[in-house]
Amino acid sequence: MRILLTEDDPALADLLLRACRQEGYSVDWVSDGVAADLALSSETYDALVLDLGLPRMDGLDVLKRLRKRGSHLPVMILTAREAIADRVAGLDSGADDYLSKPFALAELQARLRALVRRHHGGAASASLELGKLRYDTVSRQVFLDDEEIELSSREREVLSSLLHKAGKVISKQALTSAISSWDATVGSNAIEVYIHRLRKKLEPAGITIRTVRGLGYLIESSDGPAD
Ligand code: CA
Repeated sequence: MRILLTEDDPALADLLLRACRQEGYSVDWVSDGVAADLALSSETYDALVLDLGLPRMDGLDVLKRLRKRGSHLPVMILTAREAIADRVAGLDSGADDYLSKPFALAELQARLRALVRRHHGGAASASLELGKLRYDTVSRQVFLDDEEIELSSREREVLSSLLHKAGKVISKQALTSAISSWDATVGSNAIEVYIHRLRKKLEPAGITIRTVRGLGYLIESSDGPAD
């Protein structure tokens, strides 16, 4: 999962960056509205955390421009505690959720997880399941037949992206983007390595990651199609 964090208060941004990275997300941080608008036009993200009071371009304008381009990216706005009018304007402009400052990081993490889950088909459960495979999005543990398996952080992120789109093809480029950030870019060869390692760990349990030539990858279970 790749998140764009837009926040002009460096201390808060630092906290948020760490909270998102703790979740295993790749995060890009920008501190003004123009930079946010540019990043949103040129990169692919899974969610946007958007402060409304931003230099150079107001957060609301960033949001309106994003929606005008037809993007359905999940957006969480950050507002001051008393600013009810801001919250309403944000939701009316296409935000999916909001958090009032100050907030607990655990709440931000939980709400981001829920946003991303809803965006990928509305599953209410915190677990992604496919055949004998279960991925707990809260604890970030992966189980095969209820037995936990060890995955590296990157392997887990690739698996999480595949599972969010289980039964559908996800391009190598989308996978690369999902685990990259401006600080840590990942080559497309690296994706092949992660896929190879995941296959070795998952195939004995009937979980297959198929290569769809020219299109990307698809995860499926021999126990039946994803639901
Ligand atoms: Ca601000």
